[in-house]
Amino acid sequence: MTSRVQVVVGARPNFVKAAPLVHALVELGDVDVELIHTGQHYDRALSEGFFEQLDIPAPTHHLGVGSGTQAEQTAAVLVGVERVLAERPPDALVVAGDVNSTMGAALAAAKLGVPVVHLESGLRSRDWSMPEEINRVVTDRVADLLLCHCQEAVDNLIAEGVPRERIALVGNTMIDSLLRLLPVARAKDTLNTLGLASREFVLVTLHRPALVDDAVLLGAVLEVLSDLGRELPVVFPMHPRTRARLESGPTLDGTHVRLLEPLDYLDFIALEAEARVVITDSGGVQEETSALGTPCLTYRDTTERAITAELGTNRMVGVDPDALRAACQHELARQMPTDRPEIPLWDGRAGPRAAKAITDFLSARG
Ligand code: UDP
Repeated sequence: MTSRVQVVVGARPNFVKAAPLVHALVELGDVDVELIHTGQHYDRALSEGFFEQLDIPAPTHHLGVGSGTQAEQTAAVLVGVERVLAERPPDALVVAGDVNSTMGAALAAAKLGVPVVHLESGLRSRDWSMPEEINRVVTDRVADLLLCHCQEAVDNLIAEGVPRERIALVGNTMIDSLLRLLPVARAKDTLNTLGLASREFVLVTLHRPALVDDAVLLGAVLEVLSDLGRELPVVFPMHPRTRARLESGPTLDGTHVRLLEPLDYLDFIALEAEARVVITDSGGVQEETSALGTPCLTYRDTTERAITAELGTNRMVGVDPDALRAACQHELARQMPTDRPEIPLWDGRAGPRAAKAITDFLSARG
């Protein structure tokens, strides 16, 4: 019998993580897959372009949630997803990652008795000041099938008392997207278009509220980046949240940083693959740089992706402009690593494994 699975996406990282699973479910042939787009990210640069490049089918439902406070956004997702699910409940609802759409949709489904599948389950920063940590823990608490991308995530869930039979270690679907589209990205010639040379530029993404909502800290970081920009090009595709803070905050007069609009996925991974070093506070970027073998400096005190520091190329800098300056100097002074790290199950086949775990789960429920 054909099962019906709905997949919720809402924000940039969700599209990258969900695409390989959606493709693998569609390929199975006996699963009807529908996409619910919450609209948490809605402008072309952060949403529509990703559907095209990642080849994701058009959403069957578009909730138009938009931006707002944490509560406004979560509440709108709860109401919107509940309405869709109540119309005709699917056999399972899949949510990905740790954004407000993830938690809101999971809660709506759990309360209606719709089985919840969490893709990228079990990550923990143990930093409760991060909205994402709350989203992760709440989503995992109500999930029926928890799909993990590394052993540490499995261990975290077991330590929290999640029964082993609800957990499946499937690998990292974000890396499936990366490995599939890297050749396409390289063919786009992004470096030339931006006038950059391989391994001779620094790529920056910073958008976490802990940094960008603090004008003094953000100003100090921009100063470090600008100093670095005197040595080699520093390109900073800017998330709308960061851009908004800069419009009313620290001055950018005379900066040596090249500020860009958010890049499309192909342009961004092309730069990630060729940067001398990446400076970030993003979750996904820590993973992608590790899979690519590009050195990454993470401007945060904690990471829920410790595996990228253990096995990958990630180095935690802390939230401290002086430490960032020192880490950049250290990184630029040393040789580029030549080997690509091997992280178990980050092999480009996580989507099919996740799809299989879901169909096994559905058949076990009968
Ligand atoms: N990304 C992109 N363009 C950019 C910056 C990031 O396509 O200008 C991609 C990046 O390759 C990764 C995802 O967006 O796949 C990460 O999203 P983000 O940093 O917004 O979220 P987080 O991972 O921190 O939740």
